[in-house]
Amino acid sequence: MLSPGEIKLRDGRSVDFANLDIAATAPCLRVVADAVADLLPYYGSVHRGAGALSERCTREYEQARETVADLLGRGPDDTVIFTRNTTDAFNLLARALPEDTTVITFDTEHHANLLPWSNTVRLAAPRSPEEAIEALEISLYRRQTGNVLVSVTAASNVTGEVWPVARLTEVAHRFGARIAVDAAQLAPHAPASLAGLGADYVAFSGHKLYAPFGAGVLAGRADWLDAAEPYLAGGGASAHVADDGAVRWATGPARHEGGTPNLLGAVAIATALRALVRDAAPRAREAGLVRRLRAGLASLPHVEELRLFPADAERVGIVSFAVLGADPGDLAVTLGRDHGIGVRTGLFCAHPLTRRLLAEAADRAGATEAPGQAVRASFGIGTTEAHIDRLLAALQ
Ligand code: PMP
Repeated sequence: MLSPGEIKLRDGRSVDFANLDIAATAPCLRVVADAVADLLPYYGSVHRGAGALSERCTREYEQARETVADLLGRGPDDTVIFTRNTTDAFNLLARALPEDTTVITFDTEHHANLLPWSNTVRLAAPRSPEEAIEALEISLYRRQTGNVLVSVTAASNVTGEVWPVARLTEVAHRFGARIAVDAAQLAPHAPASLAGLGADYVAFSGHKLYAPFGAGVLAGRADWLDAAEPYLAGGGASAHVADDGAVRWATGPARHEGGTPNLLGAVAIATALRALVRDAAPRAREAGLVRRLRAGLASLPHVEELRLFPADAERVGIVSFAVLGADPGDLAVTLGRDHGIGVRTGLFCAHPLTRRLLAEAADRAGATEAPGQAVRASFGIGTTEAHIDRLLAALQ
């Protein structure tokens, strides 16, 4: 993994940076940086030119798509589209839905999976994985007309709690609905394949998957996507434009990848996914780090963890908490400048959920007022026990 090395603290000391904000953007894996660097000398146009460079870059781009498709367990009816990120993937899918589609989400979703949809039913925040399944079942039982797309997160970016996606998929399919999975936070921690989850669509971002910014993936059933208007009208998305302006749009992934594609981003994602599949050991360590952090936080009287599900629910390496009686912004600056720790503060682009969990946390702690923002520590490859202990000592 590429590392920033030591950073200077306010008092002049140098420490290795404890990056506990990996859920926002993960550091780049060495193997990913190497794959991108290896390609740079051969940089040429993708899908648009002749000659050695263009041929190589076109081949690399399509090979990256095939690698991603294989690792996601693509079925015969599935496609893989490179997008800018998860937000872009959901906006693309939202535009491709047949007109009579109702989208069912939960109140607890990240904004990327709340705001793109137009005809939505939002289910109240469930208090356990079982409640989520039951709520979906009831909602689908009542709604039998038109297409239905259920869209849920696989792992919450606020609490790290893992959602019962395979069981939600089973319920959705039982009622003839499709399911899209926001795998932005699951994919860096555990396999998030179409085949493994049984989902109709998955979306995730390269920059959370130890690859650089600027590329993401929407993978899943091709039929609605093939029938939809192109997401970005322009070159690449168009197969033929007549003199009178009539357009025949491209078919397949090109239809929604208008403009010059992000070759380096696609190669980076394919390389990162392959590396994560090959070496799951660093991810297996995460459960221990989660336990260590949660146990430490539980012993701090002024800190209250945020959670939606029961305390023993499965989690990825994300833990958010309220620090009672401290300004979260000041706290983040102190952690950064005096302790060399990077965390995230705020409502984490899941405002309804985080506000609610902050209020509950303040209640549990007997505080009269809930903090306006939460603090989130998130970790993954490269995080050590010493980083966790440094955070706990600083909070103490
Ligand atoms: N879904 C979840 C669960 C996320 O955590 C994020 C990023 N915070 C997104 C979607 C959106 O990802 P991006 O900003 O890369 O589009």
